[in-house]
Amino acid sequence: MKKGFLLVISGPSGVGKGTVLHDLMNTQSNLVYSVSATTRKKRDGEIEGVSYFYKSREEFEQMIKEGKFLEYAYVHNNYYGTPKEFVEDKINEGKIVILEIDVQGAVNVKKNTDNGVFIFLAPPSLKELENRIVGRGTETDEDIKLRMHNARKELMYINDYDYLVVNDHLNSAITSVNEIINAEKHRVYREDDIDFKEDNNE
Ligand code: 5GP
Repeated sequence: MKKGFLLVISGPSGVGKGTVLHDLMNTQSNLVYSVSATTRKKRDGEIEGVSYFYKSREEFEQMIKEGKFLEYAYVHNNYYGTPKEFVEDKINEGKIVILEIDVQGAVNVKKNTDNGVFIFLAPPSLKELENRIVGRGTETDEDIKLRMHNARKELMYINDYDYLVVNDHLNSAITSVNEIINAEKHRVYREDDIDFKEDNNE
Protein backbone atom coordinates (compact mmCIF):
# COMPACT_ATOMS: atom_id res chain seq x y z
CA MET A 1 0.00 0.00 0.00
CA LYS A 2 1.17 3.54 -0.73
CA LYS A 3 2.19 5.42 2.41
CA GLY A 4 0.37 8.68 3.04
CA PHE A 5 1.93 12.04 3.75
CA LEU A 6 1.49 15.10 5.92
CA LEU A 7 -0.02 18.22 4.41
CA VAL A 8 0.90 21.13 6.63
CA ILE A 9 -1.08 24.35 6.15
CA SER A 10 -0.17 27.54 7.99
CA GLY A 11 -1.07 31.16 7.65
CA PRO A 12 -2.09 34.02 9.91
CA SER A 13 -5.25 33.81 11.95
CA GLY A 14 -8.18 35.01 9.81
CA VAL A 15 -6.59 34.21 6.45
CA GLY A 16 -9.25 31.61 5.66
CA LYS A 17 -7.48 28.31 6.40
CA GLY A 18 -10.64 26.83 7.88
CA THR A 19 -12.77 27.67 4.84
CA VAL A 20 -10.20 26.36 2.36
CA LEU A 21 -9.76 23.14 4.34
CA HIS A 22 -13.49 22.60 4.71
CA ASP A 23 -13.82 22.67 0.93
CA LEU A 24 -10.84 20.36 0.40
CA MET A 25 -12.20 17.78 2.83
CA ASN A 26 -15.38 17.65 0.76
CA THR A 27 -13.69 17.36 -2.63
CA GLN A 28 -10.41 15.46 -2.26
CA SER A 29 -10.43 11.77 -1.47
CA ASN A 30 -8.10 10.21 1.05
CA LEU A 31 -7.72 13.30 3.26
CA VAL A 32 -8.09 13.25 7.03
CA TYR A 33 -7.94 16.26 9.33
CA SER A 34 -5.76 16.01 12.40
CA VAL A 35 -7.72 17.51 15.29
CA SER A 36 -5.34 19.44 17.57
CA ALA A 37 -5.45 19.77 21.32
CA THR A 38 -5.53 23.27 22.78
CA THR A 39 -5.84 25.16 26.04
CA ARG A 40 -7.74 27.98 24.30
CA LYS A 41 -11.39 28.46 25.24
CA LYS A 42 -14.02 27.01 22.92
CA ARG A 43 -15.54 29.58 20.51
CA ASP A 44 -19.27 29.63 19.78
CA GLY A 45 -20.05 26.96 17.22
CA GLU A 46 -16.92 24.90 17.85
CA ILE A 47 -17.29 21.26 18.80
CA GLU A 48 -15.14 19.20 21.18
CA GLY A 49 -13.25 16.52 19.24
CA VAL A 50 -14.12 18.10 15.88
CA SER A 51 -12.67 21.62 16.10
CA TYR A 52 -10.19 20.84 18.87
CA PHE A 53 -9.71 18.67 21.93
CA TYR A 54 -10.07 21.29 24.68
CA LYS A 55 -7.64 20.74 27.56
CA SER A 56 -6.74 22.48 30.79
CA ARG A 57 -3.18 23.72 31.07
CA GLU A 58 -2.39 20.89 33.51
CA GLU A 59 -3.80 18.24 31.17
CA PHE A 60 -1.87 19.66 28.23
CA GLU A 61 1.41 19.76 30.16
CA GLN A 62 0.85 16.15 31.25
CA MET A 63 0.42 15.14 27.58
CA ILE A 64 3.70 16.92 26.75
CA LYS A 65 5.46 14.95 29.51
CA GLU A 66 4.02 11.69 28.17
CA GLY A 67 5.35 12.42 24.67
CA LYS A 68 1.87 12.44 23.15
CA PHE A 69 2.53 15.27 20.67
CA LEU A 70 4.12 15.18 17.24
CA GLU A 71 4.66 18.91 17.80
CA TYR A 72 3.24 21.61 20.02
CA ALA A 73 3.64 25.36 20.33
CA TYR A 74 2.60 28.27 22.50
CA VAL A 75 0.50 30.53 20.25
CA HIS A 76 -1.51 33.66 21.19
CA ASN A 77 -1.03 32.84 24.91
CA ASN A 78 -2.28 29.27 24.63
CA TYR A 79 -0.86 25.82 23.95
CA TYR A 80 -1.72 24.04 20.71
CA GLY A 81 -0.47 20.56 19.77
CA THR A 82 -0.83 17.72 17.26
CA PRO A 83 -1.61 14.32 18.82
CA LYS A 84 1.03 11.92 17.50
CA GLU A 85 -0.68 8.54 17.48
CA PHE A 86 -3.55 9.54 15.18
CA VAL A 87 -1.17 11.03 12.61
CA GLU A 88 1.12 8.00 12.57
CA ASP A 89 -1.78 5.54 12.23
CA LYS A 90 -3.34 7.44 9.33
CA ILE A 91 -0.06 7.85 7.43
CA ASN A 92 0.42 4.09 7.71
CA GLU A 93 -3.10 3.60 6.33
CA GLY A 94 -2.06 5.62 3.25
CA LYS A 95 -3.98 8.81 4.12
CA ILE A 96 -3.02 12.42 3.51
CA VAL A 97 -3.12 13.95 6.97
CA ILE A 98 -3.87 17.67 7.18
CA LEU A 99 -2.17 19.65 9.94
CA GLU A 100 -3.46 23.19 10.29
CA ILE A 101 -0.72 24.49 12.54
CA ASP A 102 1.27 27.64 13.23
CA VAL A 103 4.71 28.44 11.82
CA GLN A 104 6.63 27.21 14.89
CA GLY A 105 4.82 23.87 14.70
CA ALA A 106 5.49 23.62 10.96
CA VAL A 107 9.21 24.23 11.47
CA ASN A 108 9.28 21.47 14.11
CA VAL A 109 7.42 19.02 11.88
CA LYS A 110 9.86 19.80 9.05
CA LYS A 111 12.81 18.99 11.31
CA ASN A 112 11.29 15.67 12.32
CA THR A 113 9.92 14.30 9.06
CA ASP A 114 10.82 14.09 5.40
CA ASN A 115 7.25 13.16 4.54
CA GLY A 116 5.59 16.57 4.69
CA VAL A 117 4.28 19.04 2.13
CA PHE A 118 4.23 22.60 3.47
CA ILE A 119 1.77 25.23 2.21
CA PHE A 120 1.62 28.83 3.45
CA LEU A 121 -1.72 30.58 2.95
CA ALA A 122 -1.20 34.35 2.91
CA PRO A 123 -3.67 37.26 2.88
CA PRO A 124 -3.58 39.72 -0.04
CA SER A 125 -2.60 42.44 2.47
CA LEU A 126 -2.37 43.03 6.22
CA LYS A 127 -5.26 45.52 6.05
CA GLU A 128 -7.50 42.91 4.43
CA LEU A 129 -6.47 40.41 7.11
CA GLU A 130 -7.45 42.82 9.88
CA ASN A 131 -10.82 43.44 8.19
CA ARG A 132 -11.46 39.70 8.12
CA ILE A 133 -10.55 39.17 11.80
CA VAL A 134 -12.68 42.14 12.89
CA GLY A 135 -15.54 40.94 10.67
CA ARG A 136 -15.45 37.50 12.28
CA GLY A 137 -16.41 39.18 15.56
CA THR A 138 -15.06 36.41 17.77
CA GLU A 139 -12.01 38.16 19.29
CA THR A 140 -11.62 41.01 21.76
CA ASP A 141 -9.78 44.20 20.68
CA GLU A 142 -6.74 43.06 22.63
CA ASP A 143 -6.80 39.66 20.96
CA ILE A 144 -7.12 41.25 17.51
CA LYS A 145 -4.00 43.34 18.19
CA LEU A 146 -2.13 40.24 19.32
CA ARG A 147 -3.21 38.28 16.24
CA MET A 148 -2.12 41.12 13.91
CA HIS A 149 1.22 41.37 15.70
CA ASN A 150 1.70 37.61 15.28
CA ALA A 151 0.61 37.77 11.62
CA ARG A 152 3.51 40.12 10.87
CA LYS A 153 5.91 37.66 12.49
CA GLU A 154 4.37 34.62 10.76
CA LEU A 155 4.74 36.15 7.29
CA MET A 156 8.49 36.13 7.84
CA TYR A 157 8.46 32.30 7.75
CA ILE A 158 7.14 31.98 4.19
CA ASN A 159 10.53 30.85 2.90
CA ASP A 160 10.38 27.76 5.15
CA TYR A 161 7.41 26.47 3.12
CA ASP A 162 7.27 24.57 -0.18
CA TYR A 163 4.28 26.49 -1.60
CA LEU A 164 2.75 29.95 -1.19
CA VAL A 165 -0.95 30.46 -1.94
CA VAL A 166 -2.45 33.96 -1.63
CA ASN A 167 -6.07 33.84 -0.52
CA ASP A 168 -7.33 36.76 -2.56
CA HIS A 169 -10.28 34.96 -4.11
CA LEU A 170 -11.40 31.93 -2.17
CA ASN A 171 -12.14 29.75 -5.20
CA SER A 172 -8.77 30.27 -6.82
CA ALA A 173 -6.99 29.61 -3.50
CA ILE A 174 -8.92 26.33 -3.20
CA THR A 175 -8.07 25.40 -6.79
CA SER A 176 -4.37 26.07 -6.15
CA VAL A 177 -4.29 23.90 -3.03
CA ASN A 178 -6.12 21.12 -4.90
CA GLU A 179 -3.55 21.29 -7.70
CA ILE A 180 -0.70 21.06 -5.21
CA ILE A 181 -2.23 17.98 -3.57
CA ASN A 182 -2.83 16.30 -6.92
CA ALA A 183 0.75 16.94 -8.03
CA GLU A 184 2.15 15.68 -4.73
CA LYS A 185 0.09 12.48 -4.95
CA HIS A 186 1.91 11.70 -8.22
CA ARG A 187 5.47 12.14 -6.97
CA VAL A 188 7.43 9.19 -8.31
CA TYR A 189 8.79 8.31 -4.89
CA ARG A 190 5.25 7.92 -3.54
CA GLU A 191 4.22 5.45 -6.25
CA ASP A 192 4.12 1.73 -5.48
CA ASP A 193 6.72 -0.30 -7.32
CA ILE A 194 5.41 -0.60 -10.85
CA ASP A 195 6.33 -3.66 -12.82
CA PHE A 196 6.85 -2.85 -16.52
CA LYS A 197 7.69 -6.43 -17.59
CA GLU A 198 7.26 -7.08 -21.32
CA ASP A 199 4.12 -8.94 -22.23
CA ASN A 200 5.53 -12.06 -23.98
CA ASN A 201 2.21 -12.98 -25.60
CA GLU A 202 2.37 -10.07 -28.01
P1 5GP B 1 -7.16 29.50 16.51
O1 5GP B 1 -7.12 29.91 17.95
O2 5GP B 1 -7.49 30.66 15.62
O3 5GP B 1 -8.02 28.28 16.26
O4 5GP B 1 -5.67 29.04 16.11
C1 5GP B 1 -4.60 29.88 16.40
C2 5GP B 1 -3.34 29.36 15.72
O5 5GP B 1 -2.93 28.11 16.27
C3 5GP B 1 -3.48 29.13 14.22
O6 5GP B 1 -2.34 29.70 13.58
C4 5GP B 1 -3.47 27.63 14.09
O7 5GP B 1 -2.94 27.22 12.84
C5 5GP B 1 -2.55 27.24 15.23
N1 5GP B 1 -2.72 25.85 15.62
C6 5GP B 1 -3.86 25.12 15.70
N2 5GP B 1 -3.60 23.87 16.06
C7 5GP B 1 -2.25 23.77 16.22
C8 5GP B 1 -1.36 22.70 16.59
O8 5GP B 1 -1.74 21.57 16.83
N3 5GP B 1 -0.04 23.01 16.64
C9 5GP B 1 0.45 24.25 16.37
N4 5GP B 1 1.76 24.42 16.43
N5 5GP B 1 -0.36 25.27 16.02
C10 5GP B 1 -1.69 25.04 15.94
